[in-house]
Amino acid sequence: MQRISVLFPTPTGCYDYRAEADMPAGAFVRVPFGRRQAVGVVWDAPPDNTIPPEKIKPAAEILSVPPLGAQTIAFVNWVAGYTLSPVGMVLKMALIPDLEKTSKKPLTFGAPDPAHQTIRFSDKQAEAVRQLAGIDGFGVALLDGVTGSGKTEVYFEAIAQRLVDGGQVLVLLPEIALTTAWLDRFETRFGVKPAVWHSALTPKQRRDTWLAVAQGRTSVVVGARSALFLPFRDLKLIVVDEEHDTSFKQEEGVLYHARDMAIVRAKIAGCPIVLASATPSLETYCNAAAGKYRHITLPDRFADARMPDILIADMRCRDKGAVRFISPLLCQKLTEHLARGEQALLFLNRRGYAPLVLCRACGHRFQCPHCSAWLVEHKSGGRLQCHHCGHAIPKPAECPACHEADSLVSCGPGVERIHEEIAALFPAARAEIVTSEHIDNPAQFADLLGRMQTGLIDILIGTQMLAKGYHFANLTLVGVIDADMGLGGGDLRAGERTFQLLHQVMGRAGRAAKQGTAVLQSFNPDNMIIGALKNNDRTAFLAAETQARQMLEMPPFGRLAAIIVSGKNQAPAWEAARKIAGAAPKDADIAVLGPVAAPMALLRNKYRFRILVKTGRDCKLQKMLAGWLSRVRCPAGVDVRLDIDPYSFY
Ligand SMILES: [Zn+2]
Ligand SMILES: [Zn+2]
Repeated sequence: MQRISVLFPTPTGCYDYRAEADMPAGAFVRVPFGRRQAVGVVWDAPPDNTIPPEKIKPAAEILSVPPLGAQTIAFVNWVAGYTLSPVGMVLKMALIPDLEKTSKKPLTFGAPDPAHQTIRFSDKQAEAVRQLAGIDGFGVALLDGVTGSGKTEVYFEAIAQRLVDGGQVLVLLPEIALTTAWLDRFETRFGVKPAVWHSALTPKQRRDTWLAVAQGRTSVVVGARSALFLPFRDLKLIVVDEEHDTSFKQEEGVLYHARDMAIVRAKIAGCPIVLASATPSLETYCNAAAGKYRHITLPDRFADARMPDILIADMRCRDKGAVRFISPLLCQKLTEHLARGEQALLFLNRRGYAPLVLCRACGHRFQCPHCSAWLVEHKSGGRLQCHHCGHAIPKPAECPACHEADSLVSCGPGVERIHEEIAALFPAARAEIVTSEHIDNPAQFADLLGRMQTGLIDILIGTQMLAKGYHFANLTLVGVIDADMGLGGGDLRAGERTFQLLHQVMGRAGRAAKQGTAVLQSFNPDNMIIGALKNNDRTAFLAAETQARQMLEMPPFGRLAAIIVSGKNQAPAWEAARKIAGAAPKDADIAVLGPVAAPMALLRNKYRFRILVKTGRDCKLQKMLAGWLSRVRCPAGVDVRLDIDPYSFY
């Protein structure tokens, strides 16, 4: 009898079955599972030979679906081992629901033509192309250049060169659903649209695309982070654009960082990977500086498009009585730019009208009953809403605590409030709000871009959705309403993220021939990051940030893992967290911080506690954590999650 291991997309692991025919690893099989039938994948794990042969059920049927290749299996195993997640839960990300259904009219994918368009490169671009072409087998390259330096053309050329001999290319982009501009550029260069992969696809689109990738019928896939788990047969190149973008870190289910896992996938495939960014992450920057990655820099191509003039509006000098969120300096600049018929962008990374509503009479604050969070006022819908769980109530006319009428005050600004202020200050200006609530599909977004391009909008007010690389020739003024916003909170990467985001936002001003201006409103004008932004000095920022992380032995100079213990009942969750911390290995190289109540101590009705584990760079983190947690038994109802290389600390 031949035993095989079959893995299911569940947390339970592999089960033994009896192979009735040749059933190689990667094959999809239908097998009896309890009283029903289940679909699993023959896995390359050794069978559990302790189970007596008479208890082993036969795996009767092999599905007519292309099997997972050895590289995809190796990748799933690797990700599970690194993130300390059940292999089945990682496999789940590599499978598509309704795989057995057949599409009546399957999607077809055209073959990109590497020679569709001839590009004339600058010397610097040609040199970058040559360096990328020189990578033989696995290798990581950082493609480092500002927006407008021609990074995309360079990596398009690398794609074209790798496709000449056949094979497949994966491009990862953040927020893929909205990048119609990128898809159009691809089509211009290669004559066809690439296959796309993101959460907004229909099940049919997902199935067709998955099958086309597995059968090698599509050669280029552009996708969000989950595209990493597609069953590529013959990867020749991976590109991660905007590699610094924190949306590459998945914060639900299996917690993984798509950029880091993309490097692993490239290594397994033995192919090069290009990380592209105008503001590389500190991790990538340090790896490039240490010579582990090739560092390819592109200077700004357009001599007449400089970074904008950067002005700091010191918000500490505001008149006490004034409740405006738009400073006199920004107001003056808006007046000037609008008078010239130019456009402005006001950036505030906060949806709604006001982040907090309180009662002037008794001090009552509106808090979410399910989360440690204030309810955000949304004036357009007349409601107060939790941005973590969605709980919403209509805004009451009187205070629910002291029943005083007209006593509720809105504190702080959201984009709706800035819009209201603009309407009062510039009644003739056509201003529009752009957030994920206002725009939730590519067509709406394309429509907005069109109205902006044709001059039907004077002022855009929006969240980080607007930070991405859209070019508006007539947009010459960017106002950052709260430049300090991301700096608080004790988050390891707060400074880095603020620098990257604001640098990117400010870069929206004056990309074409016209000189742009950016106004940063800050209560901390002496802050190092505000200073580096003002002087457009990325090198100084990276040097200071590197030094700080090195001193504190924080990533990439040390390793971090978070243990999050949560439960519906507070006492057992706290007890479990204390037990876990108490069982920590005693090692000079391991620092255990906590447990403490998480900043979001209550989230969707669950009480949460955090333990942060900090180790040296060479620590075998996964092995240490697995051993440690195996020594602790947690009661039912208490959930323990591990976050290797955490990016969020809430
Ligand atoms: Zn009150
Ligand atoms: Zn909530």
